[in-house]
Amino acid sequence: MIRGSVITALHKIVGKDNIFTEPEVLKVYAYDGTTNWIHEPDVVVLPTSTSAVAEVMKLANSERIPVTPRGGGTNVSGGSVPIMGGIVLGTARMNRVVNIDKENLSATVETGIVLNDLIVRLAQSGLFFPPDPQSFFGATLGGAIAENAGGPTCLKYGVTKQYVLGLEVVLPTGEIVHLGGRTLKNVVGYDLLHLFISSEGTLGVITSAELRLRSISPARKTVMAIYDDVEKASESVSMIFAEGVIPCKIELLDNWMINSIEGMMPLGLPKDADALLLFETDGMPEAVENETEKIVQILKNGSAVDVRVAKNADEANTYWAARRLGYAAIYARAKTVFVEDVTVPIGKMSTLIKKCKELARKYELEIVVLGHAGDGNLHPSILSDVNNKDLYDRSLKAMDEIMEIAIGLGGVLSGEHGIGLEKKKFLRRALEPAVVNMMKNIKSLLDPNDIMNPGKIWDDRT
Ligand SMILES: Cc1cc2nc3c(=O)[nH]c(=O)nc-3n(C[C@H](O)[C@H](O)[C@H](O)COP(=O)(O)OP(=O)(O)OC[C@H]3O[C@@H](n4cnc5c(N)ncnc54)[C@H](O)[C@@H]3O)c2cc1C
Repeated sequence: MIRGSVITALHKIVGKDNIFTEPEVLKVYAYDGTTNWIHEPDVVVLPTSTSAVAEVMKLANSERIPVTPRGGGTNVSGGSVPIMGGIVLGTARMNRVVNIDKENLSATVETGIVLNDLIVRLAQSGLFFPPDPQSFFGATLGGAIAENAGGPTCLKYGVTKQYVLGLEVVLPTGEIVHLGGRTLKNVVGYDLLHLFISSEGTLGVITSAELRLRSISPARKTVMAIYDDVEKASESVSMIFAEGVIPCKIELLDNWMINSIEGMMPLGLPKDADALLLFETDGMPEAVENETEKIVQILKNGSAVDVRVAKNADEANTYWAARRLGYAAIYARAKTVFVEDVTVPIGKMSTLIKKCKELARKYELEIVVLGHAGDGNLHPSILSDVNNKDLYDRSLKAMDEIMEIAIGLGGVLSGEHGIGLEKKKFLRRALEPAVVNMMKNIKSLLDPNDIMNPGKIWDDRT
């Protein structure tokens, strides 16, 4: 519980319109993008400047009050849940595009901006920021940086860390630092910039970023391939790469997902298919035509039952809307969902899918598979219910096995959702003890009083 004098001090720092202690507001900030973990903060502040963020951190550090940074709260690993109470520091009111530099393909942006607003602003200048988590209508730039988010487009263009040139960060002690810069190349001492990307809000509050941008491609095409066996679909991905083609996106939906989406919003998806793959190519018009033709040929020569090329942008948008509806379909069908985020080498994807099917049978569970098939980042999602002990326990066992399987296949625990609360018990299984110690030493150095998003990544205090 925070003392009244601290609340008064916070009032002075952020102003009366940017601080909240009302129970109904605290409830809103108790969640992330799931309902798997719920814990209310004592107070929510929404500072409007970096200097105010710095003052909040100085106060919190001197009073040893936990601070949980929060963007859109769309993460699904518990990262933004204030499990030790204290202050939630939301960035929603620091959302300005400070500068767009078309000549240098870069922009200076405050991190509270919602990604879709950034997409719209950049598009007005013919530019885009490639990382495209499918939560872009709610997720912020800061959350994307703190989680090193990816999305379908990352197959061709790379993840968030490839598009951050510089950062302004407020450290847990309240010191403001600037890391990286505005140039693509930068080799000046240790690469501290990238230490903060995917730090899950545990090392500081990222207040502003210098982004690397790209020009919007003049042409794009979408292809849907239909399969009678989900494993054959994942094999097709390897065939495409083996032929030297790198599409912009490759996404996978299984039969459960196709039918659930159709049930929510009929889009004309093939309900009998065991799986479908969605491809997008982008670039100069002639290159896009050639690449699309090549993909269609490879898919037809392979095991696709049917291959459809979207005739126009509307049809393409319908296919991609179906993919975006994936999580809504899952969450509509279960009280508790474990959205896994394991990533394996692409050639091992069909093995992972096969093993998930076996686990579903073994534990009598519904395990849905969707994900970024092009980079081996799948989201096997276990439909569960926290109020049904037997079902919940079986789900936890299946989740444990999925982690072991992914590690055994040479993969990693998380491709984009982070460790947060969900996977911290697996950290020591996935990393060498010396590596975990190195990380913990860095954390202690930057956050000596352990006030910055405590209880995340590490298992020590919970
Ligand atoms: C429907 C749905 C689809 C999704 N699809 C994808 C996807 O395709 N790809 C993907 O990568 N993820 C996806 N996600 C996960 C999530 O949306 C991303 O991780 C997103 O980047 C989180 O952004 P946010 O602003 O909501 O961050 P939050 O959820 O608010 O926070 C996430 C973490 O970052 C920290 N944080 C937030 N802002 C800052 C800051 N300014 N400084 C320091 N730390 C900060 C928080 O403390 C927390 O640990 C999806 C989630 C949902 C619900």
